[in-house]
Amino acid sequence: MRILSGGMNHESNTLNPIITGPKDFVVFYGDEILKNGLLPGYASTGIINALKEAGAEIVPTVLARAVPNGVVSAPFYYSLKREFIHRTKEALAQGPLDGVCLALHGSMKVEGLGCAEGDILGALREILPGVPVTVALDMHATVTPEMLRGADGFVGYKTAPHVDCPETGAHAARMLLSVLKTGKRLTTAYRRVPMLIAGEKSESEAEPMASLIEACRRIETRPGILAASFLLGFPWADDAHNGVSALVTGFEDALGVEAAAGELAAAFWARRKDFAFRSEFYGPQEALAVAYRAALEAGERPVFISDSGDNPTAGAAGDATDILERILETLETADKLPTPLLYSGFYDAPATAACIKAGTGAELNLTIGGNWDTLNGRKIPLRVRVETIVREFGPFHADLVLVSYRNLRLTLTSKHIGFGEEELLPALGINPADYCLVVVKLGYLEPCFRSIAARAIMATSRGCSNEVLETIPYQKIRRPLYPLDPDMEWGG
Ligand SMILES: [Zn+2]
Repeated sequence: MRILSGGMNHESNTLNPIITGPKDFVVFYGDEILKNGLLPGYASTGIINALKEAGAEIVPTVLARAVPNGVVSAPFYYSLKREFIHRTKEALAQGPLDGVCLALHGSMKVEGLGCAEGDILGALREILPGVPVTVALDMHATVTPEMLRGADGFVGYKTAPHVDCPETGAHAARMLLSVLKTGKRLTTAYRRVPMLIAGEKSESEAEPMASLIEACRRIETRPGILAASFLLGFPWADDAHNGVSALVTGFEDALGVEAAAGELAAAFWARRKDFAFRSEFYGPQEALAVAYRAALEAGERPVFISDSGDNPTAGAAGDATDILERILETLETADKLPTPLLYSGFYDAPATAACIKAGTGAELNLTIGGNWDTLNGRKIPLRVRVETIVREFGPFHADLVLVSYRNLRLTLTSKHIGFGEEELLPALGINPADYCLVVVKLGYLEPCFRSIAARAIMATSRGCSNEVLETIPYQKIRRPLYPLDPDMEWGG
């Protein structure tokens, strides 16, 4: 068995003006994927490990990954595509390929092109007609006709936050292996549900997602059905195909694949009014007032505020200043907090570079924020002290800086990375549990924060990952769409 593998993972926020380019991606080519690209927690790692276990010969192509951000640069995407094609043709010249198994996001958008996944799958299908293709997708994939034409089997993550990526990769690999073992063909049934879900309403441990995912698992136990998934679309992409999809993959001769997709779609629609924010949520001003009271009067520690409108892991710019401005308006209260107010953080390359140049212990005048998201952020002038500097943190080699201003501690990064990274604050010598109030540019709290939070408050702040979808001025999205059109009817 010779199986082509690889992947591309990017969630593209079309509201964010940043163009995601080569510096934002970590890319592994060919054998490098097997040497250095098998990072824990990724779908691609699950695919490769499952194929290896089955004794398959793996032909690694390209594995590219970036933190969610604005749409992907066209020249960069086409360079990845050329590599995919070149390596596939090279492999073919050495002998036949039996299958393809890829880890894709499903909501990667390229400037001037749109759906990257549909394009790459289409290109591979042209080179490998008749070769079975299975794909592992993010739960926030936006299914397009091109994607459906380009692969035979799909399976999406079943958890949000996504903690089952390797399992999903292994699932995609197993689907492919079962095709090769039985000689049967796959079929995938698709139903679009005209709905969009704010990211923070779709946690898989909470209702209604918990029951809906359970329904997928039950369907997967039916004979001949190999995968059942809900792909929720990505609410911060203004794209005609956006919406929720029910996808069911089974053997071509299995009964009930189409019916199962219809069943799942109807179940999802029936629960549409049950999607709600799980944590308490308020506008920015009130979120801050509630958090101050919790920290100062009730002594709760640590209280977390999610700056959810500017969550870089949802592709927002990471430099909106809605909450920072509210903090600066209430500095006298912030000064009374028994520990500094920790704010993690801001993607601000110029401010980070200036701090590094000034060095630890230096005081300097900076502006923070407002480089990219100029709609929801402005450059805030502050005189700060540089507390800690960390160079080349994590897989994206981001420089990190901790600065202080009165009773505030702010983290700055040179790269557009997520602030939910478990290792980020410890790298700066910070234990968030020591702080009474922590503001973090995130939506739902990642497990590392949730496990220590005395209280989790979500601020529905302004930014490119605005959770109040009804206020986003979509232009291209297909209407009617729930909840933008709350009274709409849909017959399935
Ligand atoms: Zn996702």
